[in-house]
Amino acid sequence: MKTMTCRQLGGPCELRHRSNTADEVIKAQDRHLKDVVAGGDDSHRDALKEMKGRWRHPISGMGWYRAVKRDFAMMTDD
Ligand SMILES: [Zn+2]
Repeated sequence: MKTMTCRQLGGPCELRHRSNTADEVIKAQDRHLKDVVAGGDDSHRDALKEMKGRWRHPISGMGWYRAVKRDFAMMTDD
């Protein structure tokens, strides 16, 4: 298992996502952003907007996706 924080994924807080794959970490971050913004958190709004933009523009969003995958691959296991 590896850990990436909300901040490492473009968000504003230090919440930790633990997973075996970068895909799952990205999905967890996506869920986290939606959850906290739905709960009235303003600090995550921009990060959520960027995340949504990436799904809408998969080509330009791919750069971010690849960077996260690379960072994840370079991290050491917990
Ligand atoms: Zn967060």
